[in-house]
Amino acid sequence: MKKVKYISMTVLLAAVLAACGDGNSDANDNASNQDDQASNTNNASTDSSYNTEPDENNQATENNDSINDDNSNDVVEENNNQENSDQENNDEQTAEADTEPMYEMDGPTVRPIDDADAEVVLLTIDDAPDNHGPEMASILQELDAGAIFFVNGHFIQSDEGKEQLQEIYDMGFEIGNHTMNHPNLSDLSEEEQYEEIVALNDLIEEVIGERPRFFRAPFGVNTDYSKELMEEEDMQWMNWTYGYDFDPDYMEKEALETIMVETELLTNGANLLMHDREFTMEALEGIVEGLREKGYEIVDPASIK
Ligand SMILES: [Zn+2]
Repeated sequence: MKKVKYISMTVLLAAVLAACGDGNSDANDNASNQDDQASNTNNASTDSSYNTEPDENNQATENNDSINDDNSNDVVEENNNQENSDQENNDEQTAEADTEPMYEMDGPTVRPIDDADAEVVLLTIDDAPDNHGPEMASILQELDAGAIFFVNGHFIQSDEGKEQLQEIYDMGFEIGNHTMNHPNLSDLSEEEQYEEIVALNDLIEEVIGERPRFFRAPFGVNTDYSKELMEEEDMQWMNWTYGYDFDPDYMEKEALETIMVETELLTNGANLLMHDREFTMEALEGIVEGLREKGYEIVDPASIK
């Protein structure tokens, strides 16, 4: 299962602190996102040849929620009970993954809290469950790969949609909130934003008995108000590191498999955006296997604080 790497605590803490440092640049999501994204990626690791082009190209398309500003608000939380058990017990530690947080979010990026494996990626499936959700979940389950399914309310109004949601949840996947109707939150009043987010939390809870912990804004557009709501609702918002299945060049199994694994944006803790779509479903196994061949394990969202 997961390899545990012993990373110097000092280095790790320094990295976390540095990452938290650039806190409050929320003022203008739309304008500042490229910078924020770049800095998130740079924090993730060494390489200087970071290139935002794929996301920039995708700005045009609908789902290209490519805005990654920082998430440091969320880092504040409860924390500090990460009694990461001792290093002799790798097995036990793996077994505890479901209960003890091993990771936390730093913007869109997944960071180990203590000595968990840093070489992981987070899989996220947006706009679910739109027909392929349960099948995607079962493919991932076969591969023993966790993921967050970010759900839209308009897909779970019908009994069939609710059943699909339940099925995905029952297979052990994290259910995230992607708004009721997939609007651009910056076009909405505060009351409307509240409805989009909180009414969906209520609806999801009605179906699966649990409120989502994670939020992803449509198009990656978070507002000051939606961020306040995150705190009130005890949720974390996250954008993503990269994704390609909304780009016409990659709406096909082989091309998508390749780019998702070969992109230079793949770094430790990368947050991978995918959607509930047929070609993405077809590419899923190849993507997971390709990531693992590159040395990345798929993080279990349940292990994220
Ligand atoms: Zn979406």
